[in-house]
Amino acid sequence: MQGVTVVDHPLIQHKLTLMRDKHRSTKNFRELLNEIGMLICYEVTRDLPLEYVDIETPIAPMKAPAIAGKKLVFAPILRAGTGFLEGMLNLVPSARVAHIGLYRNPETLQSVEYYFKAPHDLADRLVIVMDPMLATGNSVSAAVTRLKAHGAKNIRLMTLLSAPEGIKTFTEAHPDVHVWTAAIDSHLNDHGYIIPGLGDAGDRMFGTK
Ligand code: URA
Repeated sequence: MQGVTVVDHPLIQHKLTLMRDKHRSTKNFRELLNEIGMLICYEVTRDLPLEYVDIETPIAPMKAPAIAGKKLVFAPILRAGTGFLEGMLNLVPSARVAHIGLYRNPETLQSVEYYFKAPHDLADRLVIVMDPMLATGNSVSAAVTRLKAHGAKNIRLMTLLSAPEGIKTFTEAHPDVHVWTAAIDSHLNDHGYIIPGLGDAGDRMFGTK
């Protein structure tokens, strides 16, 4: 599918199956989301540019590769997007974090923004937007529109599960933003839930209903 990478690594697929199981505990669900976050982040950052820096090993000087450019920005969409954050910050501890608060109006399924806080120099940084569920695509599309309005030019989207409807909406709205996802499920139901999906990711992370 154009603009979308399905990360089909067996470890990710196995952990995703554990997460889908409705008997999985809240604690275990959160742990798995963090672990998968780290593994998907590894793929999302696979092609980051490198530069060569001068260092000295205990034996000899050398030019060694290091990630070039400004620190990355991780942009979780509240609240479920934060489930990826700890694992990603374990991999890239110096990343900056932008928080984007959006909720879905349950009747219209449109997204409503209630919080936005990001580094001021987004134009110079790679921004990785995170939301485990790409369902209607409305929230992530709105989040990316907002980031672009704040200057972001280099944006990637990282999700766990996607619906075909969400992928269509998002890639049509933002064809310049590549999407990484662990699976593309069958469809959305009338309430905007991904089928078969895993339920409400935020509720399952935080034990709410
Ligand atoms: N958000 C969720 O958490 N789950 C879905 O299935 C759809 C949107």
